[in-house]
Amino acid sequence: MFFTNIFKLGHKCSHEHVTPDRECGYCPDCGKFIRNEWYITRCACCGVKLKTVIRNGLIVPQHKYCINCGSENFLVEKIGQINFIDINFAVLVKKIANEENVLCATTRCWQEKTDAQPKLLVQYL
Ligand SMILES: [Zn+2]
Ligand SMILES: [Zn+2]
Repeated sequence: MFFTNIFKLGHKCSHEHVTPDRECGYCPDCGKFIRNEWYITRCACCGVKLKTVIRNGLIVPQHKYCINCGSENFLVEKIGQINFIDINFAVLVKKIANEENVLCATTRCWQEKTDAQPKLLVQYL
């Protein structure tokens, strides 16, 4: 059962201790750098926000058809900053981040450099 094996490998750690109130952080269970990303689906026809779920690893609307216009086409939108309205529609995706493009990791590096050569950095900033 090749497919089953892949499924298990991909779900070894659910990073449940990386809480959604943080944008990113290290998972205490597997040590990977995890980025919390919020996604929402919208109707491609009328643009209304749709309740979003993850089904078979895909970000999809909970219902097949738009409650506003009956269309079954939808768009997936990434939310930069979650708010109290969107949180009712959005779904949280925990991604293993590549440290080079993660803002939090960059900040961490910068702080380490600051400790080593504080004067030089202040001068150049
Ligand atoms: Zn983890
Ligand atoms: Zn619609």
